[in-house]
Amino acid sequence: MTAFWNRIHADTAAGTIFDGERRYLMMRPDVLMGMLRELPEDTRSAVLAALAESTRVHGGKSVSAYQSTGGQALLQQTVIDGAAAFGWGTWRITSRSHEAELEVENSPFAAGYGRSDLPVCAPINGMFHSLAQALMGAAVEVRETHCAAQHGGRCRFIAQRAGHAGPSVAT
Ligand SMILES: [Zn+2]
Repeated sequence: MTAFWNRIHADTAAGTIFDGERRYLMMRPDVLMGMLRELPEDTRSAVLAALAESTRVHGGKSVSAYQSTGGQALLQQTVIDGAAAFGWGTWRITSRSHEAELEVENSPFAAGYGRSDLPVCAPINGMFHSLAQALMGAAVEVRETHCAAQHGGRCRFIAQRAGHAGPSVAT
């Protein structure tokens, strides 16, 4: 358990889980990701992109809240602790001048989806997008370059300042 749990208020009488004003939901990853298998195959990438964007926008409210309470220095660690606390796997972030890389072990989204021919960890993509934007202070583009659902192993994401995307990071 990390200090992150001190932020979380679970009220079983009310049936709610909150971090400040932000409500949470605990659900099984196979239920969430199984939704994609109920959709026509040609809509999956659009749904995953929408899920990433929704996480970037709404998860961004958590990033802003962490930033205002803990400051920039603690921001990255708070997101990493939050990911571990909520079952989003273990995150390792490497930052360089124009890009940041995220490696995730035990993504629940890959586990919940099963074998896939495209990367499926859209919520991690969105959350990392929001975090990388805050850390770099600039618009970024994020791609999941390797997904455990496709290839096994760890999931890898790259966030690059918009306009700096290059072929060197393609995998
Ligand atoms: Zn993945």
